[in-house]
Amino acid sequence: MMGPPGSGKTLLARAFAGILPPLTSEESLEVTQMYSSAGLLQGEGRLITTRPFRSPHHTATVAGIIGGGQKIIPGELVLANHGVLFLDELPEFSREVLESLRQPLEDRTFTLIRARGRVDFPARVSVIGSMNPCPCGYLGDKGRLCSCSPIQINNYRGRVSGPLLDRFDLQIEVPRLNYQELKHGDNTETSEVVLQRVVKAREKQWERFKEIKTNAEMTGRETKEICRLDRQGESLLQRVFDKQHFSARAHDRILRVARTAADMDNCPDIQVEHLAESLQYRVLDKMN
Ligand SMILES: [Zn+2]
Repeated sequence: MMGPPGSGKTLLARAFAGILPPLTSEESLEVTQMYSSAGLLQGEGRLITTRPFRSPHHTATVAGIIGGGQKIIPGELVLANHGVLFLDELPEFSREVLESLRQPLEDRTFTLIRARGRVDFPARVSVIGSMNPCPCGYLGDKGRLCSCSPIQINNYRGRVSGPLLDRFDLQIEVPRLNYQELKHGDNTETSEVVLQRVVKAREKQWERFKEIKTNAEMTGRETKEICRLDRQGESLLQRVFDKQHFSARAHDRILRVARTAADMDNCPDIQVEHLAESLQYRVLDKMN
């Protein structure tokens, strides 16, 4: 999410956690085990039944995020398994931390190797990052002027590398709303209503894969088979691709997000509007 300070990015990240389906009992056990091994479980024998929402500070170290130490203690990424890892002010995190997220984000699992052995960790996490459009935060703002030079803006955005950005399924702009927009913007759906649609879409995905798996976790081959476009969709994708120079990775992500948009719409096939919606969620690719 890219937007100026005060545009409600943190609020949105928390709302996102609220539209995720309830944990299955298996997921609930896994989350509880991780919290227990990190020494964070309060009350013996208590099962964690809500999806985790972890929001580490940008000063966090690689060990803090990924995990580490003598006895290999799970980091924030692992504690967020089956839930949300919110990285507020993404460009402020150290480059080391940001780059260490690349492989787990891709594979949804990772291995820590220490002298005393190796541990495999799950990382089925929705990672949400937020950033300002520029260091001062007001580039493109309707109400305030940006005081940054082009070099400062470039340096700031460059801290989040292209390959890391590429791994985000959705890239959106979050503009600051003025008073009028805030006042009249209450005709939107509540989280409860959206949650019902998410649960239905997830059920469809479980039927599709015959296991607890989401569209985001499709392999390259599955993406090819399951995310077929009609001729209209194909030609739209080709036109946008020739213009935007998206990566091959972005190509598959665009298709998977379009499949999810179709699932949310209860549509057996990906329609051109689902693809168009998905293409809108690559705003940062366009700026690079
Ligand atoms: Zn600025």
